[in-house]
Amino acid sequence: MRIAIYPGTFDPITNGHVDIIDRAREIFDRVIVAVAGSTNKRTLFSSAERIAMIREIVKKHKNVSVDRFDGLLVRYAQSKKAIAIVRGLRAVSDFEYEFQMALTNRKLDGDITTVFLMPHEKYTYLNSSIVRELATLGGDVTEFVPPNVRRRLTEKMKSVRG
Ligand code: ADP
Repeated sequence: MRIAIYPGTFDPITNGHVDIIDRAREIFDRVIVAVAGSTNKRTLFSSAERIAMIREIVKKHKNVSVDRFDGLLVRYAQSKKAIAIVRGLRAVSDFEYEFQMALTNRKLDGDITTVFLMPHEKYTYLNSSIVRELATLGGDVTEFVPPNVRRRLTEKMKSVRG
C-alpha cells in the first residue's frame, strides 16, 4: 500500500489543489489530504470548515481521505505509514521554500520522499489568498474554486459583514 500525504492549509481548497489531488491519486494507492489545524497564519475558515469543504469534494474518490494534522508533518506521515509527501509546484517562486522544507523533512526521515507535482498551467497563478481577496471584494470566484467552496465563501462573507 503506497500512501501519500498531501499537506496544506487549504484556506480554502482551490481548483489548483484539486488538480494536484487528482494527479496524486493516479500515482498512489491512497492519498490523505492533511489539513493543518494549528497554523501561525490567520485563516478565514476554521480547520473544521476547511476539512468539511475538502470532504465534500473528494468523497467520490475511494482512495482519498481528509484528516487534520498538528505539529511535525514528518511525525504525522510516519504515523500514517506514508512513503511520500506531495506538494504542488506552481512557479519558481514556490521553489526556495519548498526545497528547504523537502530537505529538512528528508533529514528528519530519509524514508519519506517529497514529490512535487505540477498543476495544469491554468492554475499556475492561483492560490487561496487570491481567492479570499477576490471573495472579500465581491468578485466572482467561479473559475477558481469548486461550487461548494464558492457557496461557503458567499456565506462566510455574509457572516463576516454581519
Ligand atoms: P501551505 O500553507 O502548506 O503552503 P496551501 O494550502 O497554500 O498550504 O498549499 C498546499 C499545497 O498546495 C502546496 O504544496 C502548494 O504549493 C500547493 N498549491 C497551492 N495552490 C496551488 C495551485 N494553484 N496549483 C498547484 N498547487 C497548489
